[in-house]
Amino acid sequence: MKYSGEREHLAKEKKAANKDQSSIEDFFGSKHRDEDAQNDEPPAPVYGVVEANPRASPPPAPPKPEPAQEEQASAEEEYAEEVAEEVAEEAEVITEVRVADSDTPQDLPSSFLLSVDYAGQQRKAIARLYEPKSKNLYFWLDNTGHYPYCYTDLPAQAVEKIDRIRRHSGFMRTETVQLLDLLHDQQKSMTKVLAGDPLSIGGSSGSIREMLVQDGVSHAWEANIRYRNCYTYDRDIVPGLMYKIERGNLVLSSSKTDDKIIEEFRKTVQDEEGVEKLVSRYAPVFFTDVPDIRRVAVDIEVFAPVKNRVPDPATANYEVIAVGLADNEGHDKCLVLKRKNHPEGKKGNDFPANLEIVYFDKEVDMIQEAFRLIDTYPIVLTFVGDAFDLNYLYHRAERLGIDLKRNCPITLGKDMALLKRGIHVDLYKFLKNPSIRIYALSGAYEQNNLDAVAKGLLGVGKLGLSNDISGLPYLELAHYCWNDSSITLRITQFDSNLLLRLIVLLMRISRLSMEDVTRQGISSWIQSLFRQEHRTRKCLIPRQVDIETAKSSEAQTEAVIKDKRFKGAIVIEPVAGVHFNATVLDFASLYPTIMKRHNISYETVDCPHDECRNATDNRVPETSHWTCKKRRGMISQTVGFFRDTRVKWFKGRSKDASLDDKTRKWSSVVEKALKVFVNASYGVTGASHFELFCMPAAESVTAYGRNAILSTKARAESMGIRVLYGDTDSVFLDNPSREQQEQLVQWSRKELGIDLEVDKTYKYVALSARKKNYIGVYKTGGVEVKGLSGKKRNTPDFAQAAFKRMLGVLSKVDSVDGFETAKVEIRDIVNQVIDRLEGRGEPYTPEEVAFRVQITKDLGQYGKTKPQHVRAALMLKAAGYDVPAGTIISYIKTKGDEGVLPVDLAQGKSYWLDKDKYIDTLHSVFEQVLDSVGLEFEELLGFTTLEQFF
Ligand SMILES: [Zn+2]
Repeated sequence: MKYSGEREHLAKEKKAANKDQSSIEDFFGSKHRDEDAQNDEPPAPVYGVVEANPRASPPPAPPKPEPAQEEQASAEEEYAEEVAEEVAEEAEVITEVRVADSDTPQDLPSSFLLSVDYAGQQRKAIARLYEPKSKNLYFWLDNTGHYPYCYTDLPAQAVEKIDRIRRHSGFMRTETVQLLDLLHDQQKSMTKVLAGDPLSIGGSSGSIREMLVQDGVSHAWEANIRYRNCYTYDRDIVPGLMYKIERGNLVLSSSKTDDKIIEEFRKTVQDEEGVEKLVSRYAPVFFTDVPDIRRVAVDIEVFAPVKNRVPDPATANYEVIAVGLADNEGHDKCLVLKRKNHPEGKKGNDFPANLEIVYFDKEVDMIQEAFRLIDTYPIVLTFVGDAFDLNYLYHRAERLGIDLKRNCPITLGKDMALLKRGIHVDLYKFLKNPSIRIYALSGAYEQNNLDAVAKGLLGVGKLGLSNDISGLPYLELAHYCWNDSSITLRITQFDSNLLLRLIVLLMRISRLSMEDVTRQGISSWIQSLFRQEHRTRKCLIPRQVDIETAKSSEAQTEAVIKDKRFKGAIVIEPVAGVHFNATVLDFASLYPTIMKRHNISYETVDCPHDECRNATDNRVPETSHWTCKKRRGMISQTVGFFRDTRVKWFKGRSKDASLDDKTRKWSSVVEKALKVFVNASYGVTGASHFELFCMPAAESVTAYGRNAILSTKARAESMGIRVLYGDTDSVFLDNPSREQQEQLVQWSRKELGIDLEVDKTYKYVALSARKKNYIGVYKTGGVEVKGLSGKKRNTPDFAQAAFKRMLGVLSKVDSVDGFETAKVEIRDIVNQVIDRLEGRGEPYTPEEVAFRVQITKDLGQYGKTKPQHVRAALMLKAAGYDVPAGTIISYIKTKGDEGVLPVDLAQGKSYWLDKDKYIDTLHSVFEQVLDSVGLEFEELLGFTTLEQFF
């Protein structure tokens, strides 16, 4: 249903949206595609106000300010920024798990490990297992006597002398252990401080972690790792793999993978010493398939007395009127609340035959039945269930006096809704994750609302409505509500369970439980992966301050560390103008390759060894850094292994027609998961919140990257090829011969150790003098537009349509002279727009000329000078609409006092569009492209088409 909490995310999302625009469609995003596909469908409901609602259909526009002159970042840089904005949630989680004795068998056949938690009541780690034959959930409680702990560099005796620790109710004992300190490449004696429960270690005030602070300096290590993870790492458990219970013990089920395949895989990726261990450890991760898991998707609808007001889950004032459920075994159900004198309505033609509607006279009975059903499933899927559906059900149940402890399957955590038995996966959070949206799903949807996601992934969207939710007849309400749950389910099913399998692979690689991996981002996944690597190798996990101190001569404060910037990627000055037959060569996964080849990891850049410091063949260009010659870096080795596994094995197999469909599909899932990790490896290294953040390492990666581009440029020029442009990992060459391209590729492999690939050849590329701003036209007529992203979504439809037509004209140009003809045609397009704006020809509808801008605060909070969209919002309010903060206002610009008119008030009214303002808009949209092909907008404004006739 409705949820308004995603506003904050909107601005962030679109930044990531325009990475690799490769066609006109991509440039404008899925919005236009959707509209095209929708032509035969009933029009979407016309709301007075369009909310920034992830589950409503109308496309919201972003409120992002447009810094016109700002240079745009490359995909890598943008992704690194995304990563940098993520903050890992490290608060300890104590789970309320409801288990009966019958749920914890002493023996259980091979089952799928969904999660490892800390069960508060039992004071033990607890594993959730899905047994695929019975399709039931089972639990296993730790029987190994594992306890929460942290490390300290204080000797055991010293720790026990600290009164507050000795008398701490949770304190158990100390042990002295030897761990490898990678930063100094030496064994270190540490004291392990054990406690009876996780909160005694950290996360509560007065915890042992706090008592290990002396004179303002913390002497605690690994004290911020959640116990559920700590346990997983220590036992080397892989969530997402198959485990069985044997005589009370949890044991890994042996993998059924063909030994021959593993052997071949080993030969393919093992190109250096040390990798064999990684191969053995990761083979089950990459080669064990994922079973289908019994699951249900749930969606609720809530009565709303005021149109468009989002019901607040915290107060849950209004009744739940429908609960839709769709499971993967064909059970389709909608629970519907009977209301006085409410019409039943009729079943539409598309009403699903097997949808069972169950009516309830009392809301409390309906919710109890929903709870009963939810409790029977191992996995419950929602879209925005954390913030809305499950959250609302919980609070509504509380309000109705339902015994939450006994009858409610939901427990609420901080910003999330968990289940006492099963796993709740909120697909909204998972699909919003840029790693998933951009890299794994190739940007199939741009906006993270259920309608856009479903259209992008499944090709179907939400149902259109004949009325607002509260006014819908029962049958239509049931159909609508169930349909939302059905598409939520299908998002996890399409392409042979692609998304479900992807989630499981990410669990395995990151060692996180299903509910964590779907809620956290890539930096948490990578952090977790390397925590496991450290524990497996018996290494101490360094703290940020340890890395910083080891790398610099003087101690630095946290603020200084976070404030530092380093030199990024290189952009070669563009040769402005139109260039025919330009070829683009780019480096395949440049940064991960550099990390592997140059051994870049936090412990190997500026390592502690004198012989490395004094050597000459390991210097990072343009910097004072060096890399280690004695030890293989943990990050460089792992990232390199992932990269090779992806490129040398799974990528090719995902497209290999000689393989069976199942193998191909699986390879494609593994390839996608690895891509996510490999692509982010540089980003996290340079992200100041990342546990293993290391400035010299990030600096070294970009330095080698610049070096690669510059030496390629020099090499090309020495071969007589003009370099037109270059950015981060690609160079644009002026009409190189096939032999020259091949020579450069060979040279790069030999000299740089990086795969340079011929990416594409343009019919022509038009470079503007501004960096990262060009259009490229392919021989097939396709057009690639780079660098106009700022204009993107705020652009009204009429201007987007005109822009598309302009690109169509430019795509047909075959020679320098062709631009003269194109100019005439573009002038025609512009003049047709002006005609329509002036009311000659077919006038534009208000929607076509609407600007869509979000109001970010309550209307009362805006000052004296009110921007246009706020003025429009005030007009809506005066007309009786509810306009809370976060609402997206659609308005047109008119001549007259106010200068604006909300689209919803424009129906049946007469008004004059403010033509000049609209021409300005068109100008700004056309300008950059015209600039790159050497035309000026002003030249196009002459007389209009009609005037030509007179
Ligand atoms: Zn070294």
